[in-house]
Amino acid sequence: MTGAEALPEQALTATAAITLAVVVVVVGACVIRLALEETARVRAARAVVARVARDWEGVTPVASPTSTEGPVRLQQQRVAGWSVPDGAVRVSRGTPWGNPWRAGDRVALPSHEGSVLVTPELAVDLFAAWMLERPDSLEAAVDELAGFDLVCWCPIGEPCHAEWLLEQVRLRSEVRDLTFIK
Ligand SMILES: [Zn+2]
Repeated sequence: MTGAEALPEQALTATAAITLAVVVVVVGACVIRLALEETARVRAARAVVARVARDWEGVTPVASPTSTEGPVRLQQQRVAGWSVPDGAVRVSRGTPWGNPWRAGDRVALPSHEGSVLVTPELAVDLFAAWMLERPDSLEAAVDELAGFDLVCWCPIGEPCHAEWLLEQVRLRSEVRDLTFIK
């Protein structure tokens, strides 16, 4: 009789064990699925951030915009009748977006003794460093300049702060459109 009494208990234990196993498998599958989805989303986000970070590396100016689409830099012309085209904004000196550093000037840099001759490249680097110190200015630049061609006096093909601005505005506009996961 002892065996017959023990049987329901064993059956109960077996049912409980099976139920537990099913629960473990279902929960486990859900956890794995969520983890995989999360990994894919994190990877996608990281890829974008990595690309943006790579594009932001350093402040060395580019000779021409790296993007072949969208706004470009135009050279301001000193000829009668010339005016800033529609869809373009002047960013030369005398505007809020002018570069305070001018090629040919001399500046004192913390990294150098005495003064340093400002080359066109250095003028853009100084502008970039100055802007990066003031994130509010860069955000204002996105608000006001996104989608516009930028006009400056520098000859096309020579370093110009307007090209750095163009690139920053483009990248920062993209970042604004990102949806952050966490
Ligand atoms: Zn310029």
